[in-house]
Amino acid sequence: MDYQKLLEVLVKLDVKTLIGVLILGNLALAFLTLRYYLYHESEHEKNLIQRFGIAKILQAIAWIFLFLRGDISEIISIYLGNILLFISFYLDSLVILRMNKKTKKLWFRLQSVLLALSVIIFLFFEISRGIGNIRIAIASFGVFCILVIPNLLSITDNLSSKFEKFIGLISLFFLILLLLRALNSLFDDDVSLFTNNFLQVGTFLMLVLLMFVNGTGFLLIMYDRSYKLLKASSNLDPLTQIYNRSFFMNRAEACYQRALGNQESLSILFIDIDSFKKANDNYGHLFGDKVLKMIAKEISENIRPLDLCCRFGGEEFLILLHDTNNEQAVLAGDRIREKIQNLVFEENREFKCTVSVGVYSDQPDSNKNLQHFIDHADQALYIAKESGKNCVISL
Ligand code: GH3
Ligand code: MG
Ligand code: MG
Repeated sequence: MDYQKLLEVLVKLDVKTLIGVLILGNLALAFLTLRYYLYHESEHEKNLIQRFGIAKILQAIAWIFLFLRGDISEIISIYLGNILLFISFYLDSLVILRMNKKTKKLWFRLQSVLLALSVIIFLFFEISRGIGNIRIAIASFGVFCILVIPNLLSITDNLSSKFEKFIGLISLFFLILLLLRALNSLFDDDVSLFTNNFLQVGTFLMLVLLMFVNGTGFLLIMYDRSYKLLKASSNLDPLTQIYNRSFFMNRAEACYQRALGNQESLSILFIDIDSFKKANDNYGHLFGDKVLKMIAKEISENIRPLDLCCRFGGEEFLILLHDTNNEQAVLAGDRIREKIQNLVFEENREFKCTVSVGVYSDQPDSNKNLQHFIDHADQALYIAKESGKNCVISL
């Protein structure tokens, strides 16, 4: 099919049919969003999903009013239809801004100003002139202004994922086409809502595409975020929010292999809280949980970014220090032991907590494995407990 024929086929599409597609498409999106909303758990995301769903419902209603142009009162079709359209795109713009948790308040305020300006300018020209092509120009330009900044911010924001940037770029492309339509209709007095010329049909086709990209993009981004959150939380111990044992073992195995290849020393520190049972018995399990959380925090804040720590079980923690010999590991262990001893617990200021630490350091070789290091650190810990607790022992 040559280019000319393709253009002819496009022009044969009917604007009214395309508006019908926009109505059904937005209703379908609102329905999907509602389903998603009902089983979503995070409160922050739930708000976003709800706003997005409301925007889609408003947009469907707006398109219904525009679709019925000529059959219903002009006040509803022209005034209410276009204003609802502005509001629905405004809600879309807020959703895009809110997807980035760090967006400054100023941008939200600017969006409200843009919405107000679009509505005022639209009403002014409609009441004073009421000309079809001017109306189309103002409506297109208004939607362009409302959506352009949030999309630009999401493309340029470092925190946006590649997928979010991609959706932002496609939306921006459609918005630029919408701007061209606004400019073009300014100089073409023959055009009105249902005119079937190439630019009109092209614009509505583009709005249909924008609806799909924006809708599926939003739901996919939300899904992607929940998946990442779930994946990250499955690596963490629910109470202390540091790595759990299985994730630690995976990462530690990789560190072990790297140390083996680089012929570097590796140290394992086995930490156990002293007489923790008594703390639970005397002050309750809830307080015991708080102690565990604070100790985990203290440990994770006192190792280097590339070292690893985890809650190994109950009141036991493991640390892997890469490229660290025995002397350095004992010093690190003693520093952590001292920090924990000096912790002050708000709920019970006279309570003191101590830990015993077992250390094992060596250079990995093919006769040993990670378990060998952990077993030896555990033996050192046993000796530390036997030697009176609150101390660091290395094998
Ligand atoms: P030792 O100095 O010999 O290590 O004595 P201990 O009392 O710390 O050791 P023991 O193994 O006898 O007791 C460990 C206690 O840790 C028993 C258990 O109730 C407590 N514990 C394990 N997991 C949790 C937890 O998630 N929350 C609370 N509050 N306590 C826990
Ligand atoms: Mg123990
Ligand atoms: Mg203990």
